[in-house]
Amino acid sequence: MENKVITRFAPSPTGRLHIGGARTALFAWLFAKSHQGKCLLRIEDTDLERSKSEHTKAIIDSFSWMNIQFDDEVIYQSKNKEKHLSAAKNLVKSNAAYFCSCTSERLKNLREEQQKNGLKPKYDGKCRELDLKEGSDTVIRFRNPQEGSVPFTDLVKGVIEISNHELDDLIIVRSNGTPTYNLSVVVDDIDMDITHVIRGDDHINNTPRQINIFKALGAKEPIYGHVPMILGEDGKRLSKRHGAVGVFEYEQLGVLPDALKNYLVRLGWSLGDQEIFNHEELVNKFKEGNINNSPSTFSFEKLSWFNKEYLSQIDSENLLSTLSSMETEFSQDDYSLEVLNLIRQRCSLMSDFSSESEYFFREVEDYDPKAVKKCINQQAIELLSEVLSEFESSKSWKASDVQEIIEKVLSKHELGFGKIGLPLRVALTGSINSPSIDRTAEVLGQKVVVERIQKAIKEFS
Ligand code: GLU
Repeated sequence: MENKVITRFAPSPTGRLHIGGARTALFAWLFAKSHQGKCLLRIEDTDLERSKSEHTKAIIDSFSWMNIQFDDEVIYQSKNKEKHLSAAKNLVKSNAAYFCSCTSERLKNLREEQQKNGLKPKYDGKCRELDLKEGSDTVIRFRNPQEGSVPFTDLVKGVIEISNHELDDLIIVRSNGTPTYNLSVVVDDIDMDITHVIRGDDHINNTPRQINIFKALGAKEPIYGHVPMILGEDGKRLSKRHGAVGVFEYEQLGVLPDALKNYLVRLGWSLGDQEIFNHEELVNKFKEGNINNSPSTFSFEKLSWFNKEYLSQIDSENLLSTLSSMETEFSQDDYSLEVLNLIRQRCSLMSDFSSESEYFFREVEDYDPKAVKKCINQQAIELLSEVLSEFESSKSWKASDVQEIIEKVLSKHELGFGKIGLPLRVALTGSINSPSIDRTAEVLGQKVVVERIQKAIKEFS
C-alpha cells in the first residue's frame, strides 16, 4: 500500500499570516487532502526574540477563517530542542558532524579573502579532520560529503542536481548550544513522518543541505515541491509597499474566505481554464492540476472579480444577515433587503455595500462637484421641477410609473433620457453612479424622492 501522504506548513511566528505564506500553506494542505493525507502545522518559534504567541494565534485564526483545519496537534519547534541536540550528538558520534573552534574573526577574514579572490564564501574545513572535543566556544558542523552530488526531483521545478562541492560544512549547533534551522527542520520532518515538503522556493538552496542531513541521520528524505513566489504588479517581490499583504487585512476589507482561497490557489495552480473552484472541488481536483513553475503576479482587481463571483452565489437573505451583523446600516427588514437586491450587482467587496448604499440610509448632504458641473444647468433645474410636480401627484409608485413620467416629460421637450436621468440621479443620490434611476426612485419611496428633488432644486437654483 502506498504510504499515507503527510505534508506540513511551517511558519515562523514573527508576524501575521502573509498571503504568500497562506498560498504555500494552501498548496501543502490541498496536496495532502487531495491524496487523502494529512497536513500538519509546525510553528517554527525558535527565534525567541522575534517569535510572538500573538502571531501564532493570528496565524491559526486566519486559517480557521479560511476553513483550513490542520491535522493533529499544532507542533511547536521550540519544544523539540532536545531532539535536535541529540540528533546532532548522534551525527558527531557517527562522524557525520564535528566540533569546530574557528573564531568568528577567522571566519570573517576567510570570507573576505574568498570574496576578494572572486570565490563563493565557504567554510574551508580547517577543523574537519582535527577531531576536536566539545569546548565552551565550539560549534557543531555537519560534515557535508565532498564528492558526488545531490539530485532530487522537485514536484514543481523538475529534476535538480547540486554538486556537493557547492555545499558548506554548515553549522548545525551554535556555540551557545542552540540548534540551527537546517538541523531542526530535518529532525522535525523525520519526527513528523513528513512525506512531502511543499514550501516557498526561497528555501530551495537549503534542500540539498537538508537531504544530506536526512541521509546522515539514516532517514529517507521527503519529496520536495518548491512554490515560486508571488510578485506585485511592478514585478517585485510582494511586500507591504504593494498594499495589503496579510490575510487578516483581506478579512477586514470584506473579502470572502472562499474567494481569497480560490484566488490564491489559482495564483500559481491551474486545471484547464476553470477559474472558480469551491472548497470541495479544490480538495478533490488539486492533484489533477499543475503548479506553475514561474512566479505569479498578485492582482487586487482579479481578487475582486473572484469575490464578486462568490458574492453572487450567496442568497440575499444570508447576505443581509451577514451585513446586519457587521458595522453597516443594513438591518433585517424589507427595506434593507430591497436596497441589497438593487445594489448587489455593483459590489465586489463586502465594504462596497456600505459605500454603494449610503444614500438609501442617509440624506444626501454633499453633491459630487464633477457630476453637478456636468449635469446641472438651468434646463436641468426646469426639467427637474416638471418631473417633481408629476411625481408629487402620481397615484402609484412603481419603477414603471417613474419611468413613464420621465419619458412623458422628455417627449414633450423632445429630449434624450440623460437630460433628466442624470440630474435626477444627482438629486436623489448625490452622484451619477447608481443603479437604474427608476428602481432607485421606487426603493427610496415617493416621499423621499419628492423631498430630495425639492432640496436639490433649492440648492442649485
Ligand atoms: N519556517 C520557515 C519559514 O517560515 C519554513 C521552513 C520550511 O518550510 O522548511 O520560512
